[in-house]
Amino acid sequence: MESKVSVIGGGTAGLVTARKLASFGLETTVYDQKKILGEPVRASGILSIRGLEKIGIGYAKAVTNTLYGATIHAGGESLKVESDDAVAHVLDRKQLNDICHDEAVAEGAEVILGRRITGKELDGMAANGIVVGADGAVSEVARHFGMGRIKRYVLTYKAEYNIRNDNRRIVDLFFDNKISKGLFGWMCPNSEDILEVGIGIDSSSGNAMSAFSKFISRKPISEVLGNSKRISEGASMIPLSRRKSIVNAKQRVLLVGDAAGQVKPSTGGGIIYGSSAGLMAANAIKDYYADGKKLGAYDKMYRKNFMLDTWMHSMVRGFYSGVGDKGMGLTLKVLENLRFGNFLGRYGDMDMPTQIIRNFLDAKGNGQEISPG
Ligand SMILES: Cc1cc2nc3c(=O)[nH]c(=O)nc-3n(C[C@H](O)[C@H](O)[C@H](O)COP(=O)(O)OP(=O)(O)OC[C@H]3O[C@@H](n4cnc5c(N)ncnc54)[C@H](O)[C@@H]3O)c2cc1C
Repeated sequence: MESKVSVIGGGTAGLVTARKLASFGLETTVYDQKKILGEPVRASGILSIRGLEKIGIGYAKAVTNTLYGATIHAGGESLKVESDDAVAHVLDRKQLNDICHDEAVAEGAEVILGRRITGKELDGMAANGIVVGADGAVSEVARHFGMGRIKRYVLTYKAEYNIRNDNRRIVDLFFDNKISKGLFGWMCPNSEDILEVGIGIDSSSGNAMSAFSKFISRKPISEVLGNSKRISEGASMIPLSRRKSIVNAKQRVLLVGDAAGQVKPSTGGGIIYGSSAGLMAANAIKDYYADGKKLGAYDKMYRKNFMLDTWMHSMVRGFYSGVGDKGMGLTLKVLENLRFGNFLGRYGDMDMPTQIIRNFLDAKGNGQEISPG
């Protein structure tokens, strides 16, 4: 068999996977149903700097703002988690997609746009090579090859406003079970003069657009927005649980990104997890073609690197969904008194909660002062 790989979906996960596959000299073709990749932009782009460095995208041109922390609001209380160092970048998602596209093409991948791949075509592609399903949350590849369902989703609605952001260092997160059960609302300075406001709700709890209307009519959001101009808006969805199977070894099919449900269940952030998984999938495919190794190595590698952290994110989500607004407010108050915000600001890691413990222990081992403040 020729060393062919068909990647279905030209989002970040598919393109990062394709870049790596092509760098191994594998014949890689990416197919996307869209004529213009990355449009319309329905998602935000807050990505940890550590995560971005790990997945190796040359992202610098897409940065629109840099964040140093977050303020968490619930039940009338708030907790500020702020670091002295930059922790995350806000990226222009269209530009990020374009960069990923150019990097994949520079490595030798072919990208075919405006082509929706059907089940029949998938059978042909799998018979002649390997298929990578990077086709998003409602994956046709997963459905066609019987790789299970994603059971939990969050529905989102977000808008951008023309506002001058004087403090661009912090993103605000609002937990309110009456409006945003299942996730939270957010207010993020995307750049000097664009503020993004959005909300995510459990797919079983109603309509994201009407939840958004309620959210922006409440203080402090309504006060911040005032009469500012809304310049874009849109709805989308985020998978919050992993698909049962991410490898179908018999038919040589692998899933990456949202198609596999590779997101942080506490925030819905999926680019770092999905792209990291894509790099692992590419390595497993290279080993399959070069040495006849099993494609299931990808699943094992993903579990080894991400399952504990995914579980910890799920626990955090379970806690804030279950504890109620008062309970969440009380928790923030206790954490504030314990100066936990300072602790997280110093040792925190947005993607990998297990890394917080490692950072703390490393600091202790190096004899650094370990008080939270
Ligand atoms: C409101 C919102 C905010 C978010 N904020 C963040 C954030 O701050 N940080 C973060 O890390 N993540 C965030 N996410 C999640 C992140 O956007 C996703 O995890 C990420 O985009 C998934 O990338 P992907 O490549 O797996 O899938 P997608 O970006 O969905 O790409 C899938 C591609 O497959 C194509 N496709 C589908 N079916 C076919 C077919 N049959 N044939 C051909 N092409 C097909 C589609 O056209 C699409 O281009 C957010 C999501 C939302 C909705």
